[in-house]
Amino acid sequence: MIDTDQAAPPPSAEETSSDNYEPPSSPLAFRKRFYPKLSKREWNSWQWQLSNRITDIEQLGRFFPLTPSEKTAAGECRLPFAVTPYYLSLMNLANPYDPLRACMVPKAEELTLARGEAVDPLAESHNEAAPRLIHRYPDRVLLLATDFCSAYCRYCTRSRLVGQGVGQGGALTEAFHYIRSHTEIRDVLISGGDPLTLTDCALEGILSELRDIPHVEIIRIGTKVPVVLPQRITPSLVKMLKRYHPLFISIHAIHPKEFTAEAKLALDRLSDAGIPLGSQTVLLKGINDSPAIMKRLMHKLLMFRVRPYYLYQCDPVSGASHFRTTVAAGLEIIAKLRGYTSGYAVPTFVVDAPGGGGKIPISANNICGQSDGDLFLVNYEGNIFKYPQVI
Ligand SMILES: *Cc1c(COP(=O)(O)O)cnc(C)c1O
Repeated sequence: MIDTDQAAPPPSAEETSSDNYEPPSSPLAFRKRFYPKLSKREWNSWQWQLSNRITDIEQLGRFFPLTPSEKTAAGECRLPFAVTPYYLSLMNLANPYDPLRACMVPKAEELTLARGEAVDPLAESHNEAAPRLIHRYPDRVLLLATDFCSAYCRYCTRSRLVGQGVGQGGALTEAFHYIRSHTEIRDVLISGGDPLTLTDCALEGILSELRDIPHVEIIRIGTKVPVVLPQRITPSLVKMLKRYHPLFISIHAIHPKEFTAEAKLALDRLSDAGIPLGSQTVLLKGINDSPAIMKRLMHKLLMFRVRPYYLYQCDPVSGASHFRTTVAAGLEIIAKLRGYTSGYAVPTFVVDAPGGGGKIPISANNICGQSDGDLFLVNYEGNIFKYPQVI
């Protein structure tokens, strides 16, 4: 079969998603067009958004014509397909290369396996201290609270686990027992799946168990909910979260288009509750692998009071080769941020080591020489400066 998507090289991120010709998305116009009878109140209910997720690729045909590549992938992928109506409303329906569409809608390339790709690239299963608990670093653990997400990113590093329909997949009793009996654990990162898709009550159950452990100093939540399902960040959720400080939240954000008025309301509520917000961004080919787009994304994050934390090289997870670019491309992006914009806007670029070595920061070598205690350093413009060390 001839795949028309592959006949021409895909356009670059800059060409596909430049704000210059990308019309601003309008959730309102989308709602009026596709859900004319729905009230604003229902649209803004997270339960409505969740129960009306589009989970069948064929159903997407109601919103835009599928490309041959998307049609090929329908029904063949192991990672389920799901997107909230809200997130769909942010896509430019006329652009098959829309960056958000590219993240969520499977393509034929997903069915291929490239060199070095694996189902569990970070070998998380080797560090499983208890069911759904990964203990890789000395003082912190990763707790997989649920396998459910409101929308599934096609490049998900945990595609082996998520969306398998097992919901919470058994109790966390053993995980809590392990954390309680390992006094070196001072930081628990709750991830999944997306923990903010749990009910307030289920999430509070986890938070209160953890807060009850004296050596757990900080709790973190990793989530994409504030940008894919911002309606979930209700006053009552935030009121509950506030009771478990110090609590940090990391937001998975990949493109400036995600930063809408709805996302602003959600993130403001979290910030106003005193929750420090950080970001995690995956470097994605054709989606955000341009210095201009990445800079806009980092600026959006700061405007929404989210401190850029990590920029990840995309993991070599099975079927993700079409999302992956080179480490050099990531370094180039960082080089175009550092010094040219606020230091707060520059994330740490990391490769999560395949095989389970943890996150390895990648940076340009700024020390270019040394003599008699003098250190020669290169600044962001490429100029060399001498730093005299005390000997
Ligand atoms: C990323 C990660 C953490 C947290 O790492 P930080 O660098 O502290 O943010 C902890 N455990 C695992 C298994 C991880 O992948």
